[in-house]
Amino acid sequence: MAYTKLLVCDGCGQMASAEHIARRLQRLEWTTRYRPVHINTLFLGAFSPQNEKDFLYAPGGEFQGEAALLLEAVGISTTGKAAEAVHTEFQRAGFFLAHVLECPLEDVNGLPSEAQRALKARLPAMATRIRRSLKPKRVMAVTEALAPVVEDVLMLDLGSPLLLDNGKPFRLGNFAEAAGIEKFREVLAGAPGD
Ligand SMILES: [Zn+2]
Repeated sequence: MAYTKLLVCDGCGQMASAEHIARRLQRLEWTTRYRPVHINTLFLGAFSPQNEKDFLYAPGGEFQGEAALLLEAVGISTTGKAAEAVHTEFQRAGFFLAHVLECPLEDVNGLPSEAQRALKARLPAMATRIRRSLKPKRVMAVTEALAPVVEDVLMLDLGSPLLLDNGKPFRLGNFAEAAGIEKFREVLAGAPGD
């Protein structure tokens, strides 16, 4: 029997199946384990990746896609390390990764305007979570997918500064030349200003 009852997921605001909710809870469990007590830098992405191998906190340790790009950008090598060691190193640096939508987009073939609408709808909840719960010293916007809503993010009260690359999110996969990654690391190394 097909399970047709849909609920609104509290992690992303999309209509969700039981499997969607189960996957969300699984990601939440993996992520919570490596949340620093005091978050120095919160990396803010747009959507949780479709592929679990791209999800930073997945225990498989494959670190592909977004996970690989972020680890490379912050200078954490994964070579010869267990996933747990990589996660611990990321945590000890005071880093935490969160997405505006804590789940992948359900409609992968949807229009970009739909994705943007889904992001915008989640921004107030995300801002509240950052301000009241995560309380990072600073927020670094990453991934190109966040670009269409950057102006909206700037209007929100995050309770901490939002770091951008010339008014845009840092594009992890697009450090065209060495200068790109150098700039990212320079901003990352900057004083959090507390
Ligand atoms: Zn969800």
